[in-house]
Amino acid sequence: QPGSSSWLTRLRQGLRKTGAGLSGLFGGSRIDEALYEDLESALILADAGMPATQYVLEQLRKKVRATRAETPQQVRDLLREVLAELLAPLEKQLDIGKSTPTVMMMVGVNGAGKTTSIGKLTRHLQQAGCKVLLAAGDTFRAAAREQLAAWGDRNAVQVIAQQGGDPAAVAFDAVSAGRARGMDVVIVDTAGRLPTQLHLMDELKKVKRVIGKAMDGAPHEALLVIDATNGQNALAQLRAFDDTLGLTGIILTKLDGSAKGGVIAAIARERPVPIYFIGVGESLEDLQPFDARAFARALVG
Ligand code: GDP
Repeated sequence: QPGSSSWLTRLRQGLRKTGAGLSGLFGGSRIDEALYEDLESALILADAGMPATQYVLEQLRKKVRATRAETPQQVRDLLREVLAELLAPLEKQLDIGKSTPTVMMMVGVNGAGKTTSIGKLTRHLQQAGCKVLLAAGDTFRAAAREQLAAWGDRNAVQVIAQQGGDPAAVAFDAVSAGRARGMDVVIVDTAGRLPTQLHLMDELKKVKRVIGKAMDGAPHEALLVIDATNGQNALAQLRAFDDTLGLTGIILTKLDGSAKGGVIAAIARERPVPIYFIGVGESLEDLQPFDARAFARALVG
């Protein structure tokens, strides 16, 4: 059933499934070097990467000294604090309503969950009372266009599409239509692409530029959808898309699956782009605002 506790449970289960077992580390009776070493390995295995792992351990040692913690259980509580503090700057709410429409551009590699996330996000925005228009900017795959159109039909959302054609032109049309029709939000989908496909990365810059021609100051958001099960590769994607586009936010998907979750610590330490939402399932309700404290709790177990 929907509700805050069910998504947290799913997140916790997802992280625990392949999670490096952070929760299993604190059963002992002493705080010793072995505990820190196990924690280091566990964080690396959970995809936190070296810089974030070192940082977390440093902060943790400081807190253990400052609080004169005596038991591993106290260390676990301090670890939750360290992680929550590390992740807190990533917490940010999507800001709608400053301009009409707010234009969002969605990017990511194939299979990251972009289309699904657009559906979830649209539902979320509609529930908040926003009128949403979608642009089928994936002119590459007919299936992607159809998937978005079908989704739009079911949910009474208008979708601007174009047979074949140029993604920048679709985006331009959609933003113009969004202005003319008094929409609150226009979400521009783009075809999935790999950071190594340089001509396709360049195409994103063009889509962004052309959106700016349809409306001054747009796009207001450039959002990257990342599959959290990609682990450290997620960070490489983040860097590449951010360097190309200047991202304003992230939607991190599949945290209910086999994601290890530590990648969020790596993001916080190495490329702190805000995480607006996390995906914790395949249905429309399974999009949740990122909550640093809740995430830290789920990660430590
Ligand atoms: P796209 O290629 O980036 O548009 O990816 P899709 O939106 O088509 O999603 C690819 C697959 O991932 C689909 O089977 C989705 O149902 C699934 N998916 C997307 N988000 C999530 C999520 O948060 N959790 C889980 N478990 N699956 C997801």
